[in-house]
Amino acid sequence: MKKIMISGILILATTGMFIMKDQGIPLEMNKNTKSNIMLVNKNNSLPDGYVPKDLVKPNIKFIDSSTEEEKQLNATVANAIEDLFSKAKEEGIIFLGTSAYRSYETQKEVYQSRVKSQGIIKANQYVAKPGTSEHQTGLCIDLTNKDRWFVEATKEATWLKENAHEFGFIIRYPKSKEAITQKEYEPWHIRYVGKDIASDIYNNNLTLEEYSQEK
Ligand SMILES: [Zn+2]
Repeated sequence: MKKIMISGILILATTGMFIMKDQGIPLEMNKNTKSNIMLVNKNNSLPDGYVPKDLVKPNIKFIDSSTEEEKQLNATVANAIEDLFSKAKEEGIIFLGTSAYRSYETQKEVYQSRVKSQGIIKANQYVAKPGTSEHQTGLCIDLTNKDRWFVEATKEATWLKENAHEFGFIIRYPKSKEAITQKEYEPWHIRYVGKDIASDIYNNNLTLEEYSQEK
């Protein structure tokens, strides 16, 4: 995909897709994409070195091995995750954060070390190339539980699946949608999109890719 920069507007020449700057958030979208969603995946990368604004540390518990960088989230998302954690706790569900924001540099290190250890084919299978990880947006977070075993049908994963949308989050890589998201099912990875969109996606069993195409 060829990228051409023309006065702040990045045009992806071969596909007719483009990125616009809107309140400091680069939005990459095709003709049908709703303009306020940041869709980041293998085919929609962030500009090199993109750093989100308004990163803060939410008042939630992270696992001990989380780095200071990955404890950060966009400020709006930080409020939403605090609400989610406290409501869950009222219902006897205890979450822990593992990883939220990851910088371009961090992703580059992770990617390059995987290429070194396992080769480029394996690396591409399991690690997002720098600029294509949703974690670089500051809008998503990975969670776990006290057993550090956050798989389908644990009470925490079930609660998250059923309630995340009420706080503005979606399960970003749902089961049975691997062909669309190009990612394996990840019950622990939630992405903030706001309550209205999250409910719409939840009620219609969509992915962010599908939602973006339909609007
Ligand atoms: Zn994740």
